[in-house]
Amino acid sequence: MALYVQKFGGTSVGSVERIKAVAEKVKRFRDEGHQVVVVVSAMSGETNRLIDLASQINDEPTPREMDMLVSTGEQVTSSLLAMALHKLEVAATSYTGGQVGIQTDSAYTRARIQRIETDDIQADLDDGQVVVVAGFQGVDDEGNITTLGRGGSDTTGVALAAALKADECQIYTDVDGVYTTDPRVCSKARRLSSITVEEMLELASLGSKVLQIRAVEFAGKYNVPLRVLSSFEDGPGTLIVAEEEEASMEEPLISGIAFTSSEAKLTLLNTPDVPGVASKILGPIADANIEIDMIVQNVAPAGDYTDFTFTVAKSDFKQTHSILQDQVIPALGGGELRGDENIAKVSLVGVGMRSHAGVASKMFRVLAEENINIRMVSTSEIKISVVIDEKQMELAVRALHTAFGLDKDSIQGE
Ligand code: ADP
Ligand code: ASP
Ligand code: MG
Repeated sequence: MALYVQKFGGTSVGSVERIKAVAEKVKRFRDEGHQVVVVVSAMSGETNRLIDLASQINDEPTPREMDMLVSTGEQVTSSLLAMALHKLEVAATSYTGGQVGIQTDSAYTRARIQRIETDDIQADLDDGQVVVVAGFQGVDDEGNITTLGRGGSDTTGVALAAALKADECQIYTDVDGVYTTDPRVCSKARRLSSITVEEMLELASLGSKVLQIRAVEFAGKYNVPLRVLSSFEDGPGTLIVAEEEEASMEEPLISGIAFTSSEAKLTLLNTPDVPGVASKILGPIADANIEIDMIVQNVAPAGDYTDFTFTVAKSDFKQTHSILQDQVIPALGGGELRGDENIAKVSLVGVGMRSHAGVASKMFRVLAEENINIRMVSTSEIKISVVIDEKQMELAVRALHTAFGLDKDSIQGE
């Protein structure tokens, strides 16, 4: 007998039929004698629908009320799934995140889980119940409902698996595992039988939404066996493993390609090239709680003036632009502001990169052959990211996928 935490995403519970199919799946595990905790997302499209409703009422709703609102989507699916299980004569009880003791900080819309009290869940499990938990939410110390950021039901699943010391956390979704890149953009993408936590963290943080980054962080920190698999067909899925040695035997140079068009770029031209300028530029932006991703500062040819470029989330673009225009430029006593919202970031990720030179030069050559201009570059030990024109994002992903031997029908490696 094993204890499984099974998380079902929005598409997997997107209709009454699909909720019934999830109940059948859960019943099969119960019939085999396993204990099951199920975490559900809202029905697909529901969270966006709720956000849209809010925007029709108030264009600056308070984060607290947003969390009250969007947490309801998951409450609906959790109760419906419990009802579907009852129809199959499976004992089940649904709970909100707060009811199962998921305590978070008070950072509405992006709260972090601080602790989980598992006594009640454990008692239900011991009593033979399936415990159905509304994902994506918790409560803060004052009892206010909080949510964990978009895609946060993954994190509910992994955090519960960690707290309950589950045998496996299974993330059921609309693809049958983690692929070399998003299979919806690259038809030649290949399912990986396993991937390291380190690589998955990079992919998630660089835009692959198949797993929320905090879920991967939890899995790494608490050693939760984590598997991504299809809601709709049987298969082994992809196992997220702790160490490189446990990952695929092939040790490819590149394991995956992530991409995102959710960032925007800002450049301050002709800023004085003196100590303290970078902090004068970024300080007021950090004070506004805006996260900065890539940063590039040019070497000033004349030694007097330089250009400073960085990226932020598209949703923070307007505010960042105003801060630069109204506060930073006057404080610096000069500088010319340029903004570009039509950019994309494409990243190659792989632990194999550590021991190989030449990945960057090959990447740049492939992009050049496709006539794709590189605007920014950033590297770490196991990733290389480039910023390019948004219109060329998919072309870049497909060209790099083929060039680095990731296509379904190709042999790996160099
Ligand atoms: P859910 O609603 O089940 O949480 P998501 O839409 O959040 O599902 O995540 C699954 C989606 O992630 C897939 O449909 C796919 O388009 C996308 N995706 C992006 N990158 C990858 C990747 N490397 N492997 C698999 N899926 C990916
Ligand atoms: N329903 C939430 C979202 O759409 C959380 C989730 O599905 O994981 O982001
Ligand atoms: Mg998701």
